[in-house]
Amino acid sequence: MKIILFGPPAAGKGTQAEIISREYNVSHISTGDILRAAVKEGTELGVLAQSYMEKGELVPDDVVIGIINEVLIKSDSGNGFMLDGFPRTIPQAEALDEALNKANMGIDAVISIEVKDEEILVRIENRQKIEGRKDDSVEVAKNRLEVYRNQTEPLKDYYSNANKLMEVDGLGKIDEVFDRIKTVLDSIIGHN
Ligand code: AMP
Repeated sequence: MKIILFGPPAAGKGTQAEIISREYNVSHISTGDILRAAVKEGTELGVLAQSYMEKGELVPDDVVIGIINEVLIKSDSGNGFMLDGFPRTIPQAEALDEALNKANMGIDAVISIEVKDEEILVRIENRQKIEGRKDDSVEVAKNRLEVYRNQTEPLKDYYSNANKLMEVDGLGKIDEVFDRIKTVLDSIIGHN
């Protein structure tokens, strides 16, 4: 199973990704987690990424595409993978398609977790209190949301045109949202 988990910041991608990777035994690849680890370690990548992340801007395409190409080669667990937070731009999606095509592979589905802006801002504010993520401050969060709507959301058309887009309502309890995702994933597995 090769899927992309898609949606605005604080849609619950990370939480759902953990459950999905456990239940379906697929590797969870989060570019946000990889970048945060690099920032923490203070590597060259981390120093570069931090300047974008703290403003809520996207890290340049060539940088994240390089990371993904490297990780995809290593993470072939046999059961597939789930991308969380990648791709976020059309060039990233095209680079992913190219890399997978070369390996005679393709994405099975893009699960888009749908949450309205008002709810997102409330969730980010709550997460800030619990996790203290710098990019969850109200100002940066608003920018991340704007970046999502302008640069990332257009990908829905890209994947809809490829008949890969599956929209799931992200409102409700964690297990309610997971049940909706499970219904979609099981239908995909059933079709394979
Ligand atoms: P996330 O944890 O997915 O919300 O990502 C946190 C931050 O990491 C984002 O606001 C971006 O600055 C950066 N980032 C993560 N994934 C990507 C990506 N695919 N393209 C560009 N920047 C990214």
